[in-house]
Amino acid sequence: MKLRKTLSIGLALLLIGQVNGQSIEDEAVTWLQEFIQVDTINPPGNEFRAVEFYSKIFEAEGIEFETAESAPGRGNIWARLEGGDEPGLMLLQHTDVVPADPAYWTTETLSGEMRDGYILGRGARDMKGTGISHLAAFLTLHRSGRPLNRDVVFVASADEEAGGLFGVGWLIDNRPEIFEGVGLLMNEGGSGSQDSDEIVFGVEVTQKVPVWLRLTAIDEPGHGSSPRPTSSLTRIVDALAILRESPFPARIIPPVATYFAGIAESLDNEWASAYANIEQAITDPEFLPAFQEYRPGHHALTRDTCSITRLSGSNKINVVPPEAWAELDCRMLPDRPAEEFIADLTSLVEGTGVEVSVIMAFTPAISSTNSRLFSAIENVTRELYPNSRVMPSVSTGFTDSHFTRDLGIVSYGFDPIITKPGEPTGVHGNDERIPVAAFRRGVTDMISIIRNVVNN
Ligand SMILES: [Zn+2]
Repeated sequence: MKLRKTLSIGLALLLIGQVNGQSIEDEAVTWLQEFIQVDTINPPGNEFRAVEFYSKIFEAEGIEFETAESAPGRGNIWARLEGGDEPGLMLLQHTDVVPADPAYWTTETLSGEMRDGYILGRGARDMKGTGISHLAAFLTLHRSGRPLNRDVVFVASADEEAGGLFGVGWLIDNRPEIFEGVGLLMNEGGSGSQDSDEIVFGVEVTQKVPVWLRLTAIDEPGHGSSPRPTSSLTRIVDALAILRESPFPARIIPPVATYFAGIAESLDNEWASAYANIEQAITDPEFLPAFQEYRPGHHALTRDTCSITRLSGSNKINVVPPEAWAELDCRMLPDRPAEEFIADLTSLVEGTGVEVSVIMAFTPAISSTNSRLFSAIENVTRELYPNSRVMPSVSTGFTDSHFTRDLGIVSYGFDPIITKPGEPTGVHGNDERIPVAAFRRGVTDMISIIRNVVNN
């Protein structure tokens, strides 16, 4: 009798989402503040500390989990809630953060301090805040005990900020069973933005593909006083001039057309019609340079690009070196194999005698919006915010989603947190912060979306 009474009180508390008088939002705020204080600055990473952080919580909740180190200190942790036969849902986060220069911060960089309505500290937005939302959703499902129509897999991985080879990349190669049966995935990359009375939720469905290349030229060395017609350096300079002056032709891939049309709906300036009809706009030769000046990040979505980022020649002013090199950070639209892009670039610079070698190239992939998870995001946000819309978006940067898209998992960059456009986030910059009220609401909305997918 006594036991039954305790159980029913426990059940009642769970039903109203309270544990020890705390709401899941209260818990999430405490977790986030504590998690920010866990030093996982990459390099070196030390993500085993994040593994310890999550292990303690999982142990207290009675959730089984597994961990693995990809290299000393580079910890990864995952846990699975078993459900029905529908394709599994993975909640993927990276636990590492980029370094922060204390000289430019107004608080300790890992303080997790709450001030003026914000939680501050490196990782607050990228992506410990989202990671804690995943945790809150995962624990809510576990605590409720309601049957799930599919497995839900929680993964907190290392090394995303340095390319993910000690995190998701390593897990796919060494612990492939984690990804077994998974068909849907939530990761970082998109969120809500509220401008006056309209809310737009961006869901990242694809990203430009990094193709990092090195150009090397070898030629006769000599004395700087007696130049020859060509040298290793003139060859490099010639090749770079070609790449600079013959940029790749603009082309619009369908996700970019959709994304820009979505942006156009919120624009009331002279750019609106160009965004609405971007295919047409790029045919005007004067449009592209103006667009590049206006929004370099959006311009980059209209073509393949290369930034010249590293350059090396002689280490002495009067010596013509035998070898010179340059490195290019190229980003390709995700509609063709990287090999094709590399072949195009190689033929462009062929006459200069430089050799093109590949430092890193990912494979392109686009996640379809025709999925149970995308409609859950649409349905839940429409119900919660009638004045909102959901827009598939394309990112110029890359996240770990390229790894999981390669596995055929429909992967979205999305956190339902709503912030104001232009509100400083400090991501990879100074005083990184997250608004407390928006974070709390985002946690609850994340739970609603996940529940919509898994409880039916
Ligand atoms: Zn991130």
